[in-house]
Amino acid sequence: MRKKFKNVSIYKHDAASEILTEDGYFVEFGNNLGEADEVVDLEGGLVLPPYVDAHLHLDYYFTGQDPKIKNESGTLFEAIDLWNDYKKGTTKAEMKSRMRQAVNDVAGYGTQYIRAQTDCTDPNLTGIKAAIEVRDELKDNIMIQVVAFPQNGMYSFKEKGKTGRDLVEEALQLGADCVGGIPHNEWSPEEGAESIREIVRLAIKYNKLIDVHCDETDDSQARFLEKLNAEAMKQGYGQLTTASHTCSFGSADDAYAFRMMGLFQQSGLNFVACPTENLYLQGRQDTYPKRRGLTRVKEFVDNNINIAFGQDSIVDLWYPAGSGNLMNILDNGLHATQLMREEDFPRNFDLITYNGAKLMQIEDEYGLEKGKPANFIVLDAPDIFEAQRRRVDCLASIRNSEFLFRKERPNYVTKLDIDRKTK
Ligand SMILES: [Zn+2]
Repeated sequence: MRKKFKNVSIYKHDAASEILTEDGYFVEFGNNLGEADEVVDLEGGLVLPPYVDAHLHLDYYFTGQDPKIKNESGTLFEAIDLWNDYKKGTTKAEMKSRMRQAVNDVAGYGTQYIRAQTDCTDPNLTGIKAAIEVRDELKDNIMIQVVAFPQNGMYSFKEKGKTGRDLVEEALQLGADCVGGIPHNEWSPEEGAESIREIVRLAIKYNKLIDVHCDETDDSQARFLEKLNAEAMKQGYGQLTTASHTCSFGSADDAYAFRMMGLFQQSGLNFVACPTENLYLQGRQDTYPKRRGLTRVKEFVDNNINIAFGQDSIVDLWYPAGSGNLMNILDNGLHATQLMREEDFPRNFDLITYNGAKLMQIEDEYGLEKGKPANFIVLDAPDIFEAQRRRVDCLASIRNSEFLFRKERPNYVTKLDIDRKTK
């Protein structure tokens, strides 16, 4: 079945206004593409590949509104302690319900790909089992990668005779897609470094990707990022490895950072920043000036080091707000990292689309190209600058040529009779 989507502008296909698909795959991008079995008018919207949320905790969704627990200090470390008690009382059914609701929320904003950080420091692996089941149940409509994330540490956690490290391995055996870690939450630099060596060993042993919560702290001396990069580079594993957060790298000395940029280029290491989360969590011990707590996003972009954005949290113990709308994440990120130069606007959407796909290693099936699955979204804007400036809504999400949802365009016409199409 041939379908034609017309009356659009298309990200990185400047001259095209139509998309032709056949049996759920892209056939062509262009103009006057000829006959089709069905023609869909997208009314002047902007087509992007689907949003990719490169870092999201589905298992924590809405735990922040449970009256039994409250993060009084607002810090990352109090949140970790509170969650450790809370998770003991949860069941797989509850977890799955939370995860499905979270997925439903984010999919409603145009996300079709999620890297789901999932706590495995639980001897029953309740969250991991739930995440794997939800991943498999929903796979036709959304792609989820499950990270075996030892929230309480590989070596600073032990329960019922199992360490965090043991549980990471068990989670991988159950089918988790990525090895996680949190070296800055281990008890000493030695344990942190050992956890990184073990992360890389496990990834190679089970043929998995790596995504580490790395140096999510304002400590300017934190060096686990350097260690992760070195271990990944030694094994030729840089492109398969992601360093999430790396907040301390935003506080590091410039001379040190400059040297590291060269090493990141050599290794091909990927990065994820979570702008809203870390703007909220970091700088808590600063008075003024108060740091932003974000890694060196602009410098990564300028040095062709792959970096994507993620939502991280939706109303959980770490962060009390969030919706899963990656337009909001992009907007906050662009402001906080000053990505508003003339050359930035044309490529900024990469941060919530192609760059996330690259670190998830799904480039074979992702993107607006002939022969790939016809997965895309439609934004309520005539072009990419207007989309960013006005932080527009996602009006439709299409998977294999079929609508996952389509919303009415809001009617902005007021008594002033302004024609919105004239901007
Ligand atoms: Zn996280």
